Amino acid sequence: MSDSRPPLPAARKSPVTVALILIVIVVLSLVGLDIWQSWTSRNQALVAAQANASNLARSLAEHAGNTIEEADTVLIGMVERVQVDGTAGDEQRQRLHRLMKRLTGSLEQLQGLFIYDRDGRWLVSSNDINPPNANNADRDYFIYHRTHADPAAHLGGVIRSRSSGDLIITLSRRINDSEGRFAGVALATLKVDYFKRFYEAYALDPDGVINLALADGTVLVRRPYDEKLIGTSIAKGVIFSQLLPNASAGTQMLTSVVDGVERLYGYRAITNYPVVVLAAESKNYLLANWRANLVRTALVICLLLSATGIFGSMLIRQIRQTSQTEAELRDAHAALEQMAMQDSLTGLANRRHLDQALPREISRARRNGRPLGLIMLDIDHFKAYNDIYGHPAGDACIRDVAQAVTASVGRAGDLVARYGGEELLVLLPECELPGAIRVAERIVEAVRALNIPHSGSPYGIVTLSAGAHVWFDRELPPRPQTLVEAADAALYSAKAGGRNQVYPLAAPLPAASSQD
Ligand code: GH3
Ligand code: MG
Ligand code: MG
Repeated sequence: MSDSRPPLPAARKSPVTVALILIVIVVLSLVGLDIWQSWTSRNQALVAAQANASNLARSLAEHAGNTIEEADTVLIGMVERVQVDGTAGDEQRQRLHRLMKRLTGSLEQLQGLFIYDRDGRWLVSSNDINPPNANNADRDYFIYHRTHADPAAHLGGVIRSRSSGDLIITLSRRINDSEGRFAGVALATLKVDYFKRFYEAYALDPDGVINLALADGTVLVRRPYDEKLIGTSIAKGVIFSQLLPNASAGTQMLTSVVDGVERLYGYRAITNYPVVVLAAESKNYLLANWRANLVRTALVICLLLSATGIFGSMLIRQIRQTSQTEAELRDAHAALEQMAMQDSLTGLANRRHLDQALPREISRARRNGRPLGLIMLDIDHFKAYNDIYGHPAGDACIRDVAQAVTASVGRAGDLVARYGGEELLVLLPECELPGAIRVAERIVEAVRALNIPHSGSPYGIVTLSAGAHVWFDRELPPRPQTLVEAADAALYSAKAGGRNQVYPLAAPLPAASSQD
């Protein structure tokens, strides 16, 4: 039965395809939206982090600048005083010492204040006791001022204090005599520890870095604090070698060559002193919140995708079931239709089928300008056959005759129908009268050849009579019934002529007014 089912048109598959396309669109949209949203929020996080890094570098630079400037202001005052009042006499030096001690105590970043004469000997300091015979002529800052007439402050690197042993940053100015010759050095020492504590007080990424360095790249203070790194040079790093020569401040994502950690650096050079501040937090730390959000939204998206998958497959299953049910209904309908068109005893087309086929064949013949042949068949003396052999044998006889008739009609498009009782009608499209007579004779001969005994017939066997008629559209199309009547009339003539024979209707057909 499935063979007889008409092939499904392409459109029947479309509901599943449409559902699949919809599901794919939903899935792609969800995933695409999530990727786009994640990418955008990542960029936003990095932009915000850039602003933070820049602000942090700015405030640290300002702090470092102010800290140095405070000490420098003190130095300027001291140089002025020494140059005007001199340092001769114990009393003068005692007054200077008291002033320097008070100033050192009042500024947290100051470790000490010192004045050396032109040979590097200690003249006065903020310390109560100066080391005997101490001489600082070997210090870099001393050599610098002795050899440079420049009156500006000189910021040196980090050294260890001779008086306290602490790590200190030196800030010094040259002292001139009244004729402008080198007369000594005024020195302020800044505590590395002061900066260290200040930087450690910042809430920062555990992987974060703060660096206070000289403009030449020499590290002054660093967080995380590591004494070994103080005094080392980071001049070869990207910031000092590539960025600072072009801009005094900025931000940059860089991978550290020291620990391989990728960090966002904010950097800024201080205007009045040769000092640079770097502040950096690791990319991992900066994107931690974003990453946590990413995991959360990814989980939600996974849930949504699973739900879409489950509901989608349910929907597709439902659509498939509906299609299957539709196909089964179509099959059942086709089977019913077939049954309604078939004669149950012979398997031939029934009268209902014939009633539909005949007008259709007439129209087709007319359209194509071709003839249409009809053969009306009737078993001879069949009433007697029933009477002699019984009704079941009569049924079997009708079946055998039907088979013999079908076997004698070979062309595609020919139709054998049970017209009623033991009468059959054969439709022969595109068949001229000689052809129809030939087919009728073949049929009559085939039934004779069955050789079914019939003691009630003068022939001793079951025979057929046939009336052939061919209609050709020379005039108006006839009613279907008119054609059947014409074939029936021919049959009547065959019966009258002695049965077991074919009779064609020679007389022309009267035209009907319309086609039913
Ligand atoms: P004729 O040669 O003139 O055709 O004689 P006839 O006896 O065949 O004529 P008639 O048409 O009077 O008889 C037809 C008989 O066919 C009547 C009926 O009993 C029998 N018949 C009709 N349909 C069936 C059927 O389905 N099965 C059987 N067994 N007999 C049927
Ligand atoms: Mg009959
Ligand atoms: Mg008969």
